[in-house]
Amino acid sequence: MSSSSLWRVAVDAPLPEALTYSSSLPLQRGLLVDVPLGKRTVKGLVLGPTNEVPEFEIKNVIDIDPEYPVLPEPFMKWLEWLAQYYLHPIGQVAASAYPPLKKTEKTRASKRAPVIPQLESDSALDLTPEQKQSFEDINRHQDFSTHLLFGVTGSGKTEVYLRLLDEVLKRGQRGLVLVPEISLTPQLIQRFARRFGDKIAALHSQLTDRERTNQWWDVVEGKKSILIGARSALFCPVPDLGIIIVDEEHEPSFKQDEKLKYNGRDAAVVMGKMMNCPVVLGSATPSLETWKNAKEGKYHLHTLKSRVANRSLPEIEVIDLRKLKSDDDEKKKIIEKYSHLPFWLSPDLYERMVEVLDKGDQAALFLNRRGVAQMVVCPSCGHTTECPNCDISLTLHGHSHLVCHYCDYHENFKTKCPDCKEGTIEAVGLGTELIERDLARLFPEKRIARADRDEIQSRADLEDLIADMENGSIDILVGTQMIAKGLDFPKLKLVGLVLADVGFNLPDFRATERSFQLITQMSGRSGRHVKEGESPGKVIIQTYNTEHESITFAKNHDFVGFANQELDIRGQLHYPPVGRLVSFRIQGTQLRNVEETASLLARRAQALKQQFPAYSSVEILGPAEAPLAKLRGQFRYHLLLKTTQVSVANPFSRQLLGNQDWVPSGVRILIDIDPMSL
Ligand code: ADP
Ligand code: ZN
Repeated sequence: MSSSSLWRVAVDAPLPEALTYSSSLPLQRGLLVDVPLGKRTVKGLVLGPTNEVPEFEIKNVIDIDPEYPVLPEPFMKWLEWLAQYYLHPIGQVAASAYPPLKKTEKTRASKRAPVIPQLESDSALDLTPEQKQSFEDINRHQDFSTHLLFGVTGSGKTEVYLRLLDEVLKRGQRGLVLVPEISLTPQLIQRFARRFGDKIAALHSQLTDRERTNQWWDVVEGKKSILIGARSALFCPVPDLGIIIVDEEHEPSFKQDEKLKYNGRDAAVVMGKMMNCPVVLGSATPSLETWKNAKEGKYHLHTLKSRVANRSLPEIEVIDLRKLKSDDDEKKKIIEKYSHLPFWLSPDLYERMVEVLDKGDQAALFLNRRGVAQMVVCPSCGHTTECPNCDISLTLHGHSHLVCHYCDYHENFKTKCPDCKEGTIEAVGLGTELIERDLARLFPEKRIARADRDEIQSRADLEDLIADMENGSIDILVGTQMIAKGLDFPKLKLVGLVLADVGFNLPDFRATERSFQLITQMSGRSGRHVKEGESPGKVIIQTYNTEHESITFAKNHDFVGFANQELDIRGQLHYPPVGRLVSFRIQGTQLRNVEETASLLARRAQALKQQFPAYSSVEILGPAEAPLAKLRGQFRYHLLLKTTQVSVANPFSRQLLGNQDWVPSGVRILIDIDPMSL
């Protein structure tokens, strides 16, 4: 037997570093092993040999797990990058790289539909000149390079992906396609299945553990050559990876907001770098992060300017909700005529609905908030209140004061509007359920469906809804952003955004960007199949603030104009992607402890900044109550760091979190690098 040697092993436990074990087994980096930890036996990923003899007693590796393959080196490097960049225990990162069940475990046979539907095949379409150009430009690359495929909704981005994948398969390589969970609708999977048949595997949250495990092995053993999945599909080590595609790359749902708080889009780019293959990011409304990289030449930019087959983009009309309260006589007559309409429905949107529905077409109404949306607005002039420090909307607490969730600025809630001095500022509350109820009264003979997280809870619910929209047994669809993405309904000719303001008044520095994306995506559902010469789909945006950038640019289908202006604003305020943001959430069951820990953390951050001149660019915001101030019995505060010096965010955060002896028991500090929401 060979003499034993020392190995660093990333064990599945909340430990900041890997542990050292001894072993006489033939170990190598990338192997999964069983190791003792306290009195338990846990799984551990072997990181490599070491010479450093730890101070404490060294235990022996128990055994090599016989089931799993050695993880490939580029994949190992990627796991290490995740742990390092997101400041997350390496062992817990590594644990994500394995399927939930053992390969051989048998569970009861299920009668569920197959993960990938069996369909007749369909063949490649003739690419439009724009598609061809993008396809060829991307296909020329076989090494690591990042590509932004920026194409308006309905411009045929998916067809470009399919062709690129086809080429990758012809070279004997494999492909990984990431999509936001929400767009893993049957429609998208069907399209891939029709083209690639049984070469496709899928991984997403609606699968059973058995299905996930089987799909994982099919990919790892090379039985399937294209893996399509939500962000977690990145953790499946696809052999011979030839391309990574991230569709709807701007989607916030690529960010995981618990445990390892990684961004699937960013992690995909790093994986492409490690695997040395091209990465394609596709969107009609790229994230500002990606747009900035494309502008600066770090990413290759490929543009699809028009919809396929000369189908026109929808016409967007903006309705000013303020005018509904006007005093002039003509307006009064109109108001009288439409007095039966609920406050959220303008005569214009109502008339359009009647028109579309009379023709037998469909309408969709959209409110970009689940549950009841609250916003504080002057109905006469549209004035809303913003934090003087942070440029984000203030949130009403109780009935008497407004709070900034970034820096903790407070002010009294004034009912008299400070802008127009006429209106009475009020809190407007509106929800999808109320809209549905009002519509049932206004259109008693029409079939109305609601799509929000209360109504659509499973994949089957969504499949039913899609089938009902496709076969025309729904006339009016009311929904949240659940219905904004990826869906393609030929008879949908009118999209109404009931209250666009809800989106841009969220307490989030990305609120304007999100609104622009949602307005564009939602508009993109309208009139997708209108032929050349037919009248285009219609979009009606109702708002108290017709001049808001997210509306004016979206109305003109002007992403570039929007992005460039918004990048300027971000730069002035040092927000991403110009600056870097890190959030520390302090949570616990005792409010006093949480508050004290939060202010102590802020003081420690200030001290750290004073101590090292390298950290002079770090700005410390808060601590402030988190927007969700209490969740599942836990009080939540947060502290934000902003810096224009990208490279200091990570070391500063690491140092700040280094020693946590001072944190009282029962309080936890959770870090989020590049947070998407707070
Ligand atoms: P995007 O992903 O950019 O929103 P899609 O790929 O869904 O666009 O394409 C929109 C529609 O156009 C789909 O119905 C698709 O089948 C069709 N399509 C795409 N490319 C072509 C083409 N080259 N010729 C004809 N139809 C196409
Ligand atoms: Zn503020």
